[in-house]
Amino acid sequence: MPNKRCVEWQFSGSDAAEEAAAASLGTYSSAVFALCDPLGKPILPPRSDSPETSHTAEKAVVKAVICGTGNAYAPSIGLPVARSAVAEYLNRDLHKKLTGDDVFMTVGCKQAIELVVDILAKPKANILLPKPGFPADYARSIYKHVEVRRYDFIPEKDFEIDLDSVREMADENTFAIFIINPHNPIGNYYTEAHLKQLAILARELGIMVVSDEVYQWTVFGSNHFVPMGKFSSIVPVITLGSISKGWSVPGWRTGWLALHDLDGAFTSTKVLKAAKEFLEINSKPATVIQAAIPTILEKTPKEFFDRRQNFLKNKVDFAYSKLKDIPTLICYMKPVACTFLWTELDPLQFFDIKDDQDFCNKLAKEENLVLLPGIAFGQKNWLRHSIDMDIPTLEDAFTRLKSFCERHVIINQRLTHDVNDVN
Ligand SMILES: *Cc1c(COP(=O)(O)O)cnc(C)c1O
Repeated sequence: MPNKRCVEWQFSGSDAAEEAAAASLGTYSSAVFALCDPLGKPILPPRSDSPETSHTAEKAVVKAVICGTGNAYAPSIGLPVARSAVAEYLNRDLHKKLTGDDVFMTVGCKQAIELVVDILAKPKANILLPKPGFPADYARSIYKHVEVRRYDFIPEKDFEIDLDSVREMADENTFAIFIINPHNPIGNYYTEAHLKQLAILARELGIMVVSDEVYQWTVFGSNHFVPMGKFSSIVPVITLGSISKGWSVPGWRTGWLALHDLDGAFTSTKVLKAAKEFLEINSKPATVIQAAIPTILEKTPKEFFDRRQNFLKNKVDFAYSKLKDIPTLICYMKPVACTFLWTELDPLQFFDIKDDQDFCNKLAKEENLVLLPGIAFGQKNWLRHSIDMDIPTLEDAFTRLKSFCERHVIINQRLTHDVNDVN
């Protein structure tokens, strides 16, 4: 019998992803959920519920399964019918039209983000990410050793991008500015004039604009949503998207990236070639879902999106009004998109809260309520609240939040802020 104790295994796990994994949204949210008591009050937000998708989308996938149109491997860059359908869809808002050749199918918007970082990563390269921003951009940059510089927003101007901070941060090693439009977690989206200013600035700096538009279907403000691709006659733009948020099917893992190539800039700089090469060595979204993409994009009735937008608007109104009872958390702007509130926390108003992470940990332990700490999005001492639940559940969440804050606040320092009354 071999002596088990004496074997010296020659293998060990790599820690190459350790730091990047620690920065991922999943790591932050699992850690906070793990502090909840499964035997206590219902854990909020409910993890299992997800909103219904459109029957059109469901039927399109069933049809692809039954007809066998999605049983084979798809080409590494995506199924041609899916690529053309995405191009057609994006073209609705564009002067400079895309073709299927400009679009690549990816495993959700997340893989599109990864791909952009991968194809541009080089020694010394840096990218400009928003503060706050979506953790996947940051995590991939860490993994690829790309330096991240975070640009600011101007809360007083409805969280427009602080273009001066962008200008200051960029240098000869900057390759791109990432924007999230509509913005998760802030919940705003940019005006046409603002995007144009950004395009002009990016051109001046010689960098491309990468626009994550995964939330473009969940806007409920009065302005029309304007995609960054509209300014591809000024600057090269890469648009990232997926059906995850708009159709409430993140589990279907299907997204895309579209290259709006200004005068062949992506060809001459080999970005197009690199994109194809990276896709060659990456996994692709399931062919059955790709086969359903043309029907999903073209045939989903407008009423489906209207209903979802109304649902979210209603929840934002309700949640925002509830914040008036919680003066210690400040929301500078009532969201007009996405599914969150983004509030500022002042730990000095509490006697035993160190920072946003500590706030979220204690809240989960005491109230079985999960908010995510701003630090997960690159901004300490802010909080992201999900509002995507029915009114009674949301009311319960805000009642718990209010009593938590009242238990921890320093009584004689309790301040009343007018800011939550604005709007
Ligand atoms: C959810 C989300 C993603 C990831 O989208 P998937 O299609 O699920 O991969 C990317 N960017 C932002 C801003 C998101 O909110």
